[in-house]
Amino acid sequence: MPTTPFPDSTILGYPRIGPRRELKRALESYWDGRSGLAELRATGRRLRADTWTDLRRRGLAGPVSNTFSSYDQVLDAALALGAVPARYVRDTPEDTVFAAARGADGLPPLRMTKWFDTNYHYLVPEIGPDTTFRADPGKPVAEVREARELGIETRPVLLGPVTFLLLAEAAPGAPDGFAPLDRLPDVLTAYEELLGALADEGVAWVQLDEPALVADRTPAELAATAAAYERLGGLTRRPALFVASYFGGLGEALPVLADSPVEAIGVDLVRGDVPEALPGLRDKVLVAGVVSGRDVWRTDPVAATALLDRVRGIAGQVAVATSCSLLHVPYDLAVEPDLPAELTGRLAFAAQKVDEVVALAAGTAGSVPAAPTPTRPVEPPPVVSRAPYAVRAAAQAARLGLPELPVTTIGSFPQTAELRTTRADLAAGRVGAAEYDGLIRAEIERVVRLQERLGVDVLVHGEPERNDMVQYFAEHLDGFAVTRHGWVQSYGSRCTRPPILHGDVRRAAPITVGWSTYAQSLTDRPVKGMLTGPVTIVAWSFVRTDLPLPAVVHQVADAIRGEVADLEAAGIGIVQVDEPALRELLPLRGAERAAYLDWAVAAYRQATSGAGDATQIHTHLCYSDADEILTAIDALDADVTSIESARSHGRILGEPAVRDFARGLGPGVYDIHSRRVPSTDEIVAQLRAATTALPTGRVWVNPDCGLKTRAYPEVTAALTNLVAAARTLRAG
Ligand code: GLN
Ligand code: ZN
Repeated sequence: MPTTPFPDSTILGYPRIGPRRELKRALESYWDGRSGLAELRATGRRLRADTWTDLRRRGLAGPVSNTFSSYDQVLDAALALGAVPARYVRDTPEDTVFAAARGADGLPPLRMTKWFDTNYHYLVPEIGPDTTFRADPGKPVAEVREARELGIETRPVLLGPVTFLLLAEAAPGAPDGFAPLDRLPDVLTAYEELLGALADEGVAWVQLDEPALVADRTPAELAATAAAYERLGGLTRRPALFVASYFGGLGEALPVLADSPVEAIGVDLVRGDVPEALPGLRDKVLVAGVVSGRDVWRTDPVAATALLDRVRGIAGQVAVATSCSLLHVPYDLAVEPDLPAELTGRLAFAAQKVDEVVALAAGTAGSVPAAPTPTRPVEPPPVVSRAPYAVRAAAQAARLGLPELPVTTIGSFPQTAELRTTRADLAAGRVGAAEYDGLIRAEIERVVRLQERLGVDVLVHGEPERNDMVQYFAEHLDGFAVTRHGWVQSYGSRCTRPPILHGDVRRAAPITVGWSTYAQSLTDRPVKGMLTGPVTIVAWSFVRTDLPLPAVVHQVADAIRGEVADLEAAGIGIVQVDEPALRELLPLRGAERAAYLDWAVAAYRQATSGAGDATQIHTHLCYSDADEILTAIDALDADVTSIESARSHGRILGEPAVRDFARGLGPGVYDIHSRRVPSTDEIVAQLRAATTALPTGRVWVNPDCGLKTRAYPEVTAALTNLVAAARTLRAG
């Protein structure tokens, strides 16, 4: 095998959306027809060049390529294997990707779901018994060449074959019992071709990402992993192979990789343990992920150096690396002048993490200031239960007087360009507080009147004052900081700016009560108060790691509990506490799940259990695989739960656990991820399925998720059909 040594400092991947979200702008402009493919490609090329030159300037020995993506790296992998379903294939690779990712010509897109336990979303490949695989090394080879033009030799990153197939779902029409992993031999043929093409290109090392190996794997899956790397390792014409694992420890997959012919193995030493000293590791490179790619804290050099010393005794060579791709952290701390100085000293974003990797490899890492000691209670109190559901349901029915199959929405209404400008004007001081207040009130009134006109039963104020469901609360709670440019890609062109929870969390004053009571003052119909739940606030923030997560969540839950109480005292009869991230934090290993769900459910109940019997608590979770945690969702003890269902074609209704669900349930009937307006007939059919699976009295009628990313014409048309469908069913 080629014996180019593995670089002593490297990263597993880098952000790609652009330090100022240049890629987002270029994508949206291309999609809207405001610019052409040439401009989109030029933006990508510029961003890649800037990243590579910056990594070189920072002294990183092992830069990576093929970590850029115009949408998603899993979809890119499907494209490189020639396995994108034929219905999406267009004339250019970009258009194929966009058709599969966003849908086209009436075609729904591929399913999208969370990338392991992160807030990044990938497109789920569809693999069937007849899927053809044809290697297309175009993109990885082009990126290697582009970097070379700058005089930079890179290590291309490919999604590994085992993870690719484990993340895929069986194509529609595949026979029962078929699993994408059955196609491993054929996929490997395509990987062999990709590796051959990269070898021809003179590439010394290739990185194959196998994060699926840090979750529980069956003996058959481990055997498939062994077979895969036996085969790829046995190729005579190939680059050296670096198999990267991340987001946890390799566990039983470690001996499999140690015994395989691959040359380097990447281990996440932030989330996983130091690997066992297996004989198979003695002639391999261990790529030690000691700089966390999942948080924004500086690395403690003493602890990291100790870890590196321990792995040095195990492997032939040790390289210093990030624990995973830096895709999950913002670009650069240097552009954040508003953060308090004492906090800045504790932070590292992608650029700073590269510096840390380089310094650790050189043995020159400096010291890191400690986090302040907590001054607020961190011990969760025992879970208190509300009255039995039957008692609450009766009190709520008497108070609210809702029709059968009540129609509601998930909270947000379209965030128009004017709204975004209004908020930006407030932030920049171009608009005063009083004027801002008036503009938001006017928007709330518009949204309330629209819902009345459409015949919605439980109204919302529309969340016009919120930039984001987590950031908004972070901005109003002590203990959080927000960034100016700290964007992290969520999917495609969408990014979030996770707040930083760095101190003790405290609610100094009511946050949402003014907006909700204003909305309620405009109408006789009930208005739902709208809060983000403690687990979601924590999941979508970068949180302090000096306290255990349950303690951090508890502080947040306490703040939300106060807000629920204030809404209730102000006369709001329904409060929705969203927990869309409940599923996301579910540990990848089964053995750790029960403990997680225990504290997550306890935090939710701490936030909501103070509500009186006649106050209806709603919750909302948006993902199709809610079935896995239905018992926990039930344990949240919310009176009404809305979940995604339309996008996953009502699959959730087939789950036996749904039938056992004891309280109100709103399986979404409008896929808000798409521009498509569902017809009344279509919604009627979905509601019939819901009222077959559940007692009619428990079914709510709502979209899959909030409407903020949609435009008014679509939303108005869709809600008109939602109300018409509910009325059709009520009429029998
Ligand atoms: N209430 C939020 C909204 O409607 C919920 C968003 C979410 O679930 N992601 O926007
Ligand atoms: Zn949602």
